Amino acid sequence: MTVEELKNKVLQNISITQTEAEWLATQPDKEALYEAAHEITMARASQEFDMCSIINAKSGRCSENCKWCAQSAHYQTKADIYDLVDKEECLRHAQHNESQGVARFSLVTSGRKPSGKNMQKLCEAAQYMRQKSSIQLCASLGLLNEEELRALRAAGITRYHCNLETAPSYFPTLCSTHTQEEKLRTLAAARRAGMDICCGGIIGMGESAMQRIEFAFTLKNLEVPSIPLNLLQPIPGTPLENQASLTEEEVLTTIALFRFINPTAYLRFAGGRSQLSKDGVRKSLYIGVNSAIVGDLLTTLGSKVSEDKVLIEEAGYRFSDSQFDREHLWHPYTSTTNPLPVYKVKRGDGATITLESGQTLIEGMSSWWCMVHGYNHPALNQAAQEQITKMSHVMFGGLTHDPAIELGKLLLPLIPPSMQKIFYADSGSVAVEVAMKMAVQYWYAQSQSSSSEAHLAGKRNFITIRHGYHGDTWNAMSVCDPVTGMHSLFGDALPVRYFVPSPRSRFGGEWNAEDAQHLRNAVKEHHEEIAALILEPIVQGAGGMWFYHPQYLREAARICEEYNILLIFDEIATGFGRTGKLFAWEHAGVEPDIMCTGKSLTGGYMTLSAVLTTNKVADTISCYPPEAFMHGPTFMGNPLACAVACASIRLLTSPEYNWKEKVGRIETQLNRELSPARNLPQVADVRVLGAIGVVEVRNPVNMAWMQRRFVEEGIWVRPFGKLVYIMPPFIIEPEQLTKLTTGLLKIIEEIQ
Ligand code: PMP
Repeated sequence: MTVEELKNKVLQNISITQTEAEWLATQPDKEALYEAAHEITMARASQEFDMCSIINAKSGRCSENCKWCAQSAHYQTKADIYDLVDKEECLRHAQHNESQGVARFSLVTSGRKPSGKNMQKLCEAAQYMRQKSSIQLCASLGLLNEEELRALRAAGITRYHCNLETAPSYFPTLCSTHTQEEKLRTLAAARRAGMDICCGGIIGMGESAMQRIEFAFTLKNLEVPSIPLNLLQPIPGTPLENQASLTEEEVLTTIALFRFINPTAYLRFAGGRSQLSKDGVRKSLYIGVNSAIVGDLLTTLGSKVSEDKVLIEEAGYRFSDSQFDREHLWHPYTSTTNPLPVYKVKRGDGATITLESGQTLIEGMSSWWCMVHGYNHPALNQAAQEQITKMSHVMFGGLTHDPAIELGKLLLPLIPPSMQKIFYADSGSVAVEVAMKMAVQYWYAQSQSSSSEAHLAGKRNFITIRHGYHGDTWNAMSVCDPVTGMHSLFGDALPVRYFVPSPRSRFGGEWNAEDAQHLRNAVKEHHEEIAALILEPIVQGAGGMWFYHPQYLREAARICEEYNILLIFDEIATGFGRTGKLFAWEHAGVEPDIMCTGKSLTGGYMTLSAVLTTNKVADTISCYPPEAFMHGPTFMGNPLACAVACASIRLLTSPEYNWKEKVGRIETQLNRELSPARNLPQVADVRVLGAIGVVEVRNPVNMAWMQRRFVEEGIWVRPFGKLVYIMPPFIIEPEQLTKLTTGLLKIIEEIQ
């Protein structure tokens, strides 16, 4: 066994054993141990230093007899005694800390737990602080039950702190009024209530070096993400008043071992660090302390935030903007009070993105389907640069320009031959809105063609299949899957559409004629009110990542024809080669009346979509009052976006690029490399089509955990629900794709 070997183990994400940690503790070459822990910190822990602060919101008169504590009523100490401070005082401290860049602020009270009245006041204070400040809130209020913790969570407190204090084998000698089991129950209840936990303790209370290791493993087994480490500050009047301090070497060794045992946790400097020399503090930061409670610390001397910051920056840590991001920027489908972690990206190149930390990740998502040629592509860059020097935008009402015309010319030969009219829009969701409006206006126009057609004005509803996804705007949402979409949330506010079961016949499998029967029945019954059937051809994306049989599209087209309803294909995700055909309709040879494209239209560079339709639909709309299609967004036909889209399509369709070969190669490799996942107990299904690979697991995944593990593996994959899927850029190299699939399978295997 060598320090080097154990370090490499941890770097490879393999835990060291307690025996190995004990061996490390006895190594005479301390510098080698510190250096190894430093490397682990650099490789596995955050280099963005995390600062939190606390308010001692109620002090003294504690019923508990913890031998180290100044606040215990069992001992005569000089600690302040006061009842709960008011919410203004809490806010004042919170805002002061926020202004200094402190990320989290904790309400801390003395005592076994607050009274009912004080709990209520604390919740009010938390709510008040959330209204007036964006600092993230924590609490440390003793041994609470789940109901009390849920009330705190509802008030905006997202992390609960409860120290285990020391090793399980030592705790009973230090306190007899409560047990560590009670603390563990509180921590488990906090997690059930939806909070993170923060849990550490005090070193130097007479425990042995081996007990410190035992303690570090206890925290590891609890998967504690934030571990405050206090150095005992012997308080006159307490039983530990004469406890000898640990040597600086003992403290540094403890930090190194905590880092070996908890490689990704925040090791947080808490009370008592003023006992260390300045050099000792520097070394602690170097070895592994990457977070701190700053400001005034309970009853022991803390330090000023500004002074702390200097030392921390000297140690090479960063204070990043992620705190600003967390406090002010709303991310997709994300809570503001308890946001999922976000990773800051510095740049993208080809099939990789580089994080601020310097880590490079293989891109498995093509930034949600769109970045097909990878990042920073010279041809697309050039197109954008050239266009921006001429005109980045000009209104499309009454004006036109080369990029819009050129893009139209490039698109026409690629889309279904019946599509002759192109309406540019801003994004995928807006394209869906436009398509739906087009369908309704088409029937409205038809209704004016003769008095016998007047009833056609009643065709203003839509039918779709379940498990669909069409975007997040109002109408787009109304045709998303009613369960996985947002129907239950927006309820009556959403227009009510007709839904039929999605086809269960798989792509590449047997066709089951019953699949289309639901659609036929529903259309037969309701066609008089239905303007159009909208669906994603072949690949249902965000609603379920399901690939269905092309025969369904042929049957659907027949039913639409028979019952006089329009057919809308949403090819926003499937377009431009993703499924192995340039557009997914080609798998079935069925042309819709209206088709939406977006996402990779600009190679993912800019937001732009295009709604395509037939002369018949466009002319009908145009021939009857109001004799115009009633839509016209400000950024319609944005020249910059159109110019980049032209470059993207030229690249895609150039013979040298050979997209078909690229997608075919990715498909073969995905099939080969993902199929072993079928043998994993965690996996329900594996499916591949074109450059899309899906592993459906049996239970919804823990997104924050999985995301973190993927990043640790050097890959970028964002799962949702039970679906772990990839759709890499077409230019991904085989070795990069192998890294992606290997990492994917490895993490899926780790699912408990
Ligand atoms: N339709 C489909 C099939 C999509 O996959 C998406 C985006 N995931 C949209 C519409 C909405 O596009 P956007 O996010 O650009 O509004």
